[in-house]
This record gives sequence, structure tokens and C-alpha cells, in this order.
Amino acid sequence: MPDNNKELTLSAPLSGPVLSLANVPDAVFASGALGDGIAIDPLNDTLYAPCDGDVIHVARTGHAVTLRADNGAEVLLHLGLDTVELRGDGFTMLVKEGARVSNGQPLLRYDVDKVARRCKSLVSLLVITNGEHFQARPVTLLGVKVGEPLLHIVAKNTGASPANDQDVGLEVSGQVRIAHRGGLHARPAARVRQTAQGFKSRSQLHFGGRSASCDSLMGMMGLAITEQAQVQVSCRGSDAEAALQALLTTLSTALAEETHAPAPAFKPHPHPAEDGVLHGVCAAPGVAVGPLVRLDGIVLPEDAGGHDVEAQRRQLDQALAQVSDEIRLTLDRARTRRNSDEEAIFNAHLALLDDPALLDAARLCIDQGSAATHAWSQSIDAQCRVLQQLGNTLLAERTNDLRDLRQRVLRALLGQTWPFDVPAGAIVAAQELTPSDLLHLCAQGVAGVCMVGGGATSHVAILARGKGLPCLVALGEALLEQQGQTMVLDADEGRLELHPTAERLAQVRQLHAEHAERRARQHALAHTPAQTIDGIHIEVAANVASSADAAQALADGADGVGLLRTEFLFVDRHTAPDEQEQRQRYQAVLDAMADKPVIIRTIDVGGDKQLDYLPLPNEANPVLGLRGIRLAQVQPQLLDQQLRALLQTRPLDRCRILLPMVTEVDELLHIRRRLDALANELGLSERPQLGVMIEVPAAALLAEQLAEHADFLSIGTNDLSQYTLAMDRDHAGLAPRVDALHPALLRLIAQACAGAARHGRWIGVCGALAADPLATPVLVGLGVRELSVSAAQIGEIKARVRQLDAVKCACLSAELLTLSSAAAVRQACHQHWPMG
Ligand code: PEP
Ligand code: MG
Repeated sequence: MPDNNKELTLSAPLSGPVLSLANVPDAVFASGALGDGIAIDPLNDTLYAPCDGDVIHVARTGHAVTLRADNGAEVLLHLGLDTVELRGDGFTMLVKEGARVSNGQPLLRYDVDKVARRCKSLVSLLVITNGEHFQARPVTLLGVKVGEPLLHIVAKNTGASPANDQDVGLEVSGQVRIAHRGGLHARPAARVRQTAQGFKSRSQLHFGGRSASCDSLMGMMGLAITEQAQVQVSCRGSDAEAALQALLTTLSTALAEETHAPAPAFKPHPHPAEDGVLHGVCAAPGVAVGPLVRLDGIVLPEDAGGHDVEAQRRQLDQALAQVSDEIRLTLDRARTRRNSDEEAIFNAHLALLDDPALLDAARLCIDQGSAATHAWSQSIDAQCRVLQQLGNTLLAERTNDLRDLRQRVLRALLGQTWPFDVPAGAIVAAQELTPSDLLHLCAQGVAGVCMVGGGATSHVAILARGKGLPCLVALGEALLEQQGQTMVLDADEGRLELHPTAERLAQVRQLHAEHAERRARQHALAHTPAQTIDGIHIEVAANVASSADAAQALADGADGVGLLRTEFLFVDRHTAPDEQEQRQRYQAVLDAMADKPVIIRTIDVGGDKQLDYLPLPNEANPVLGLRGIRLAQVQPQLLDQQLRALLQTRPLDRCRILLPMVTEVDELLHIRRRLDALANELGLSERPQLGVMIEVPAAALLAEQLAEHADFLSIGTNDLSQYTLAMDRDHAGLAPRVDALHPALLRLIAQACAGAARHGRWIGVCGALAADPLATPVLVGLGVRELSVSAAQIGEIKARVRQLDAVKCACLSAELLTLSSAAAVRQACHQHWPMG
């Protein structure tokens, strides 16, 4: 029985100079994908056992052998790189599988000249392949002779003894085809890691004869798994079956954001060299004009070495903790804004910051006397080299994310904040910009960004597209010779015009002015109510996630809040908010909206929305399970608490309560009764309005009966599309087909509007269709009288309403119900109501 607690020092199996794994000229070993360890560039011809143990595997080709040491560590000894291709020629294995060997016993002999001539390198590896239980620390990184102490290994304190969990149960495995666009790069790998961490079992991916732990992003990326490649997943532990199923699903489901905003097609310098113009690749479209401002990265001075190891380790840990707190803040903001691109990118950064391959290499450098700054920097450089050697553009672009983390951790170590103060309206030039740089630059109001290197599929490019910031990449080193002068960045055409003529500047400024003027006109009128030509008033409200959003919405002309998703008010929490805290947060939104009405939806968890403090049971079909108002069935006290908090806001006539996922009248009546009882307990005579979301077909079909008992209805087109079309609203492959302008949905919307009208109730739309200007005439025509959109779109939607004749809209919309597809509806909309 292995004794995992026993520390062990492995002795050198070969004589020669020692290398850290990161410096091994092999991407896979260097990435740590096979495990932690050390390498020797051998000068002798025999490999010796580094400890007492059992031979558990002997390579058929005689170039590698694995021992299990008495403390349970599994030690792979691999002679040379790519030596498997010699098919045994030049090797003599001296032991057999199952044999017991003692420290210093010869294991294999090889013909130095023959092997050296025919393999890539003689550099030989000693790798702990079950490294999840052990930590390896080199005793030396200088030269060694056979038998000298080389690597110290200690059992990791994983909390759970391996014998208790990860070693119990059978190993299960399965095959899956990778669905992620561009293969298993950082964001999907982060998702895989997150999935694996939800289980106690230990999980691994196997591809191309190599394996990597699902705990390590670097390890998984090091496998260079391409899109549509078949990989094997194995899981060992008490919940192995469940872990395997979850991982197979994660690996075979493309990320939702992979289908949004496809990367612009690569434009390989389409123009011949042109004086005064640098050509690059469009990473985010748009045209900008402004003075060029160059940004330079941090340059570290020489490291004198000889630092206090403990102090440097502590500093590194503190800096890492600081940066992960900062990233968590960004993530929370991205989540409340439902910005899935930003969320996925910074989730991957958080996972990288915790990656064993990066941390172990940095800590090793510190142990050898480096400063924390230099150790971190070297560790990042080593991993960047690994990614660059994989021959996959997408993975090579992920070095940008690693460099982002290098800069951030270095700044934290040096006590610096983001150091650039860029004037608003500038065009920023840099060797490379990172995702966090981009967020800072956007906040400073820059007009565009361009880079010497980079690619159109990098995370910076994705963020720039999301922010509408023109971005050119791959402009070459000549970019850094520029500074100060006013330029035109024409990202659409891949051009940076260094010396634009006065006419050209005037032309670009004219285009900008026209666009800005249109926006300004819309914005100026955003505060006036929106009426159609024939005098129908359409309320244009805002969807918000916080009181800050509400204040912004009011400033942007919102007629009210059409949807406050209360589940997003508390996403950053690990403990449930109590009644008072809830009341304060709701009151803050009401206060931010001056005298306008605020619709507050009761908590809608389940399905795609999860809260840390409210774990829900695992369900086979979560979107068809305990979602929305159904929570009242299982946790009635949670809903009562929320209703009590809502009843204590003032003034109550501005606070409107909205119930999500209602499917039958009894649900509404039950909540109405609870609301009455709670209001009585609080001694209130007044009642807030109570409305119902129409977001499942059953509710749309029963709208008339619901409207009898509800004060208003609000259509959630996001879920209504999902449940009507039987297509997951987040399904990457189906995204273009989940279109709420489908005639089947229009029929349900028409029925809901008719049901509301029969009881004189007003009806609104708070799903994404409300913000689609092509759909505005249809919704108005079907009878919708309130549209709730994001604050930035209020002016635009109000402007659209003012162009419409509601009676004509009603006639033409009725015809749309007879069409056969969403595409046909869209085409007809373009014909009837062209977009300016
Ligand atoms: C909807 O389903 O359209 C809706 C507005 O609710 P959510 O997007 O929060 O599910
Ligand atoms: Mg919904």
C-alpha cells in the first residue's frame, strides 16, 4: 500500500546538465501536460532507477519506463525527444514490467551515437505523471551525476485523501468530437476546467497519444486539439460517470459567443505598398480619425538575484490574489450586463492565473533566487513559447492573454496602476494591446486602436468589436515609428493613413458628423414621449440590472424601467441578501427613476441563470424544470421575503411587480393572495400592480384568462422563442434560427395582445425583440404599447416609433402572420418599413 505522505528525493537517473521542464524543446513536455518534473541532457549511456519502486510500464519501443515509487508517485523516465520513432533501434531495456527495482539499478541502456544522430534531442525527462497528488521541487538546476539528489517530491494537501475519493470507483471514459470553433483554445478550455472542477473526480483529456489534466488550461491547450477532432475523456472518482457526461457535453457544445459577431474575414494586405499608408488586418470595423498615441509596455531592469525566497513567494501570492480580485470585479460587471464575450474571456484569464503550469514554474524560479517579478515574467514567456510552437494560429494568439496577465501581475508587484492617460478621441498604437488594456482605453474614450501584431480572432479583437471600437492588427513594426500626428484609421479597408490630406480628413469627419448628428437628434428627442404619426403613445422603457443602470436609463430618456431582473442584483453574492438589503436595492432603483414607473421582476433562477447562494437541484432538463415562479413551489419563503421587501418600497404606485415563467392562472392567483396577506400583515391598504410575463406558449394562449387577473402583461420574447421553436436560446448552432420574428411567435404575440385588450390591460415587450428596430412596426401593429430596451437604444426606438402609422402597422402586421418563416417576415418588414 503506497504511503502518500512520505516525502521522497529522487536521485539523478542520468549524468548531465539539468533543465527545468519549461526549457525542454518540446511543446508538450514543456507545457506540463504530462505532469511536473525535470529534464537532463545526458552525457552517459545508461538510465538508472531514481528510487526504489515497481516497474509499472515499459514502452514497447524501449525508450521509456514508468516506476511507482513507494510513496505512490508514478515516475515516467523518457529517454530523448521523439525517440518513439526509432522503434526500439538503439535501446536495450534491462527490466520487465512488474519487476521490483532499487534506487540506482540500471533500467535501460542506449547507443548514444546512434540515438543522438536520429532523434530530435537526447534531452531526457523525469515526469511525475500522477502529479495531482504530488508536488515536485528540483533540488538543483545545475549539472548532476547519476545518484545525486535531483527532485524532491511531497504529497499535496488536497483536502481529500486520494484514497478516499479520486482513487475510488472505476475509471470511465468516452469519446467526443470537439465542437468549439478553432478547437480547444482558452475560453472553451476554461469552460472544461470549470465543468471538471464541479466534480470530485479527476478528469483528463487524451489526444494524439498525449494526455492533460482538465485542471490545467495550459496543459489542455498544449494538446493542440483542433475543431472537430475526436478526443477521449477519462474520469476517475466517486462521481466519475456524472463528471464524464458533463465534460462530454461541454466539449461537444460550442460556446454561445462563438456564433455571435463572427471574426471579420482575414484581409491579407490586399493593396500594393502605398506611400503614407500602413496596411493591416481588420479586427473590428469602423473608421476613426484622431492623433496617434503610442503606448509602451513595462520593461524590467536586470535581476540581481539572491532574493529572500519566502518574501518573494509571498509577494507573488499577494499580487496574484489582487489581480484575481480585479478580474472577478470585471466578471461581475460583465455578468450583470449579460456580456457573454467579456465573461468568457475574463473567466479564461482567471483560470490561467491559477494554472499549475504557470504557478509551479514561477515558484521554482523564485526558489532559485529570482525576484517575483522576473520569475512571473519568465514563467509567462516559457508558456508563450509553448503556445507559439503548437503551429495553431488561434492558440498562438492566446499568448496575448498570457502577456496581459504578465503585465497585470507585474503592475501589482510593482505597486503600479494602469499607467496610461490617453486623451479621448486618440488612436492608440502599441506593439500589442491586451483585453484589460482595451477595457481601460474604452473607459478613456479612445477613437480606435491599432497594433504591430495580433490577430482578428484574438480576445482583444472580440472585445473591440463588442465595444464598436475600430481596430486594426498586424500593421508591422513601422507602426511604432509614428507618434502624435492626426491619422485616419480605416479598419473596414485595413488601412492606417499616416498623412491624410485635408480633403480626406474632412470626408471622414463629415461621415462621423452625420452619424453623430443622427444619434444626437435621437438623443435630444429621447426625453419626449414617442407617438406614432396617428397619435398612439408607445412607452419606451429600459431593461436594467442595477440602480446605476437605472440612473443612466433616466438620463437617456427612458419612460420607466420595463424590467429589473432581480436575480442580477445579487449575482456577486455568496450569501442570500436579507429582506432589508433587498428593500434598499429595490428602493435605490425607484429613487434613481425620479417619478417614472419601475417594473421589478421576482427572482428568475434556474435554466441558464444560476446564483451562488441559491443552489438548485441538478435537473435533467433545467430549462424545463424549477424555473422562475415555480421556485415558489419549493422555496415559498424566498418569494415571500422578496414580496415583503417589495411591499416596503415607496411610492408603491410606481413599483410594479412582474412574475416570470407563469404557465397558468392559479400561479398568478396564488401570488396575488400571498401579496394581499403580506400587505395586510404590514398594515398596507395600497397594492402594487401585479403583472405576468408571457414567455411560454401556454401563457400566450391563456393570455385572456391571465389578463382577467393581472394588471398588465409583458412579453419575454427570449424565452417565448426558446419554448415555441424548441430551440435552446443559447445554442450556438441554432442561434440564427432562434428568431422571434418567426410567424408562429407573431401569432402568439397577437393572441396575447388580443387577450390583454379584452380586459383593458396594457401589454409590453421586454425581450430582445423590443430592441430590434425592424420589429417595432410589427409589435406596434399587433397591439404592444410598451417596449423595454437597453438604455443606449431608447433614442433610436423612439425615433422609429415616430415614423410609424399605427393603423397601417396593424393591417400589414396581420398579413405577416400568414407567412411561412422568420426570414420571410424580415424580408416583408424591410419592404413595408425600410430602415433609414
Ligand atoms: C425573456 O425571456 O424574453 C426575458 C425578458 O426574460 P430573460 O431574458 O431574463 O429570461
Ligand atoms: Mg425569460
